[in-house]
Amino acid sequence: MLALQGAFAEHVAALRAIGAEPVEVRLPADLDGLGGLVLPGGESTTMRKLIDRWELREPILDFAATGAPIFGTCAGMIILANEIAGGEAPVLPLLDVTVQRNAFGRQLDSFETQLSVPGLGAEPVHAVFIRAPVIERIGPSVEVMAQLPDGRIVAVREGNVMATSFHPELAGETRFHQLVVDIAMTQAG
Ligand code: GLN
Repeated sequence: MLALQGAFAEHVAALRAIGAEPVEVRLPADLDGLGGLVLPGGESTTMRKLIDRWELREPILDFAATGAPIFGTCAGMIILANEIAGGEAPVLPLLDVTVQRNAFGRQLDSFETQLSVPGLGAEPVHAVFIRAPVIERIGPSVEVMAQLPDGRIVAVREGNVMATSFHPELAGETRFHQLVVDIAMTQAG
């Protein structure tokens, strides 16, 4: 659980609810021994600065390269994209996607909706969007997990890396976190 900035307490609660033992990561050494990493929502510009200040870029990229699951929500999705529309430099380019920040504009700053996520079962996900990004382009190895009715992509997975535009943790949704734990378990073998 990357705990530099943003809405990480709710992720901690979601992970505890499924019996995981979340650890708050602030320094590279905190990654030692972890099964996976969650990047919370918040403000991606601030998160980028803090990741650099604490020299977390290389350690997180190395951690991801071991196959450990990484899950980013909202600002966390922006941090994981290998391209940010408008030309901002990527931070942890682990997903072959282009994200557009604040994609819903002012009128629709925040909203909630029921979203079908077939990979998580028949029960829809209650998705909370807060100044959320959307995915404008996906690479060939990226799997779409969820789209809005208008077709915009809001959840993706590429191997061990997963990201959502919305905040599942704010609605008590734990199935994404369960997937993270499942991937970590498979890895631990
Ligand atoms: N708009 C924020 C950003 O661009 C993300 C918002 C969020 O994480 N809830 O960083």
